[in-house]
Amino acid sequence: MDNKQNADVFDEEMRRKFDLMPGFDKDFQADPTPAFRKTDPHAMDNLTAGGQAGQTAGAASQTGVAEAQAATSQTADSLPVREKAEKSFGHRDFAAHDLPGYNRGPGIPYAFSNNPRAGQWDARKMSANRIASYKRFVVTDGEGIRNSIYVAGCPFRCQNCWNASIWDFQAGHDFTPAFEQAVIDDLRPSYVEGVTYLGGEPMLNTPVLLKISNHIRQEFGDTKNIWCWTGYTWEELMRPGTTPDKTALLGMCDILIDGRFIEGLKDSRLQFRGSSNQRVIDVKKSLAARREAQEQGLNPNCVAPVIWDKLHDQKRVIAEAYRKDRDAGEGRD
Ligand code: SF4
Repeated sequence: MDNKQNADVFDEEMRRKFDLMPGFDKDFQADPTPAFRKTDPHAMDNLTAGGQAGQTAGAASQTGVAEAQAATSQTADSLPVREKAEKSFGHRDFAAHDLPGYNRGPGIPYAFSNNPRAGQWDARKMSANRIASYKRFVVTDGEGIRNSIYVAGCPFRCQNCWNASIWDFQAGHDFTPAFEQAVIDDLRPSYVEGVTYLGGEPMLNTPVLLKISNHIRQEFGDTKNIWCWTGYTWEELMRPGTTPDKTALLGMCDILIDGRFIEGLKDSRLQFRGSSNQRVIDVKKSLAARREAQEQGLNPNCVAPVIWDKLHDQKRVIAEAYRKDRDAGEGRD
C-alpha cells in the first residue's frame, strides 16, 4: 500500500471510529486548499516554496488571510524560518471566533496539521487505554531524572513527528493495574523527580492518565512533579467547550509543553521542544494568573500562559559551539 492509500485508510478509520464528518472539521471542508491533506497528510513534502506556496496562499486568501496574500510575491526560501513557514503554508488562526480577544496561540500551519474544534476530539471515545512505551530513569523528558509514559494514539499527525509509529490508538499494550503500580513504585526513589506524559496525545488518553495522576498525588502529594507534552496549544485547552477530562488532567500537571510540532519552525537549540511555536508552560502559575484576572473582572483568555522560569534555550548550534580550533583562539567568547 502506498502513502496515499495508507492515508485514505487512516482517515476512513478515524471517521468511523470517532464519528467525525468527512474532512474532520468544517474549516477544512470550506477551504479548497487542504484537498491533498485529506489524501496524503505529508503531501506538503512535495511542495516547493515558490509557485506552490503562492498556490497555497492564493487559496488561503479566499478565506481572508492577509498574511498569506503576500506569499505570491516572494519565494519562501529567501525568508527567515518562521516567516518562511507562515508564508509557505498559509498562516491563520482557525478559530479566531472561539474566544473574544484571543486566539489559539502560536500559529498553526493548516495544510498538514489537524485543527480540532473545542471538544471535537474526546478521549472518552478515542482512547483505547493503551501504553505505547514506558521508560524509567530518563534525563531527556523534563527536568531531572524521570519516568516517561508514552500513551498510544495521536490524530494531529504533524509532519515529521518523531513518534509517528504510535499515532495508532491501538499501538502498544493494555493499561493494567500492575502497570499503574509499577509506575508508582518506580517513583519512590528520592532521586526521581517525577513522571512525564508523552505520546501519542496525553489529552486524548485521559482515562489512563487521570487514574495514574490521582494515584501519584495520593501517594506522593506534590513531592513528585508531572510534565506533559501535548499537541494542543494552551489556548485551545482553555476554550469553552473543552472536554472536562482535559481540564482535569491539565490541573494535575506542573509543566505543559504545548502545540504541534511544525517542521518549518524546527530548531535544535530549543530546550525540551522541537519547534519554536511550542512553549514550556508553568501550569500552576498560568492557572493562578487566569484566576487573578477573573477576580479583577478581566477576560482570563486574554492572559498569556506563564513560561517556566528555568527555561534556557541554547544560543548556538552545537557545531558553532564545539567545532572550533581552540589552539587558534576560536570559540573563546
Ligand atoms: S502532536 Fe506530537 S505526537 Fe502528535 S503528531 Fe504532533 S509531534 Fe507527533
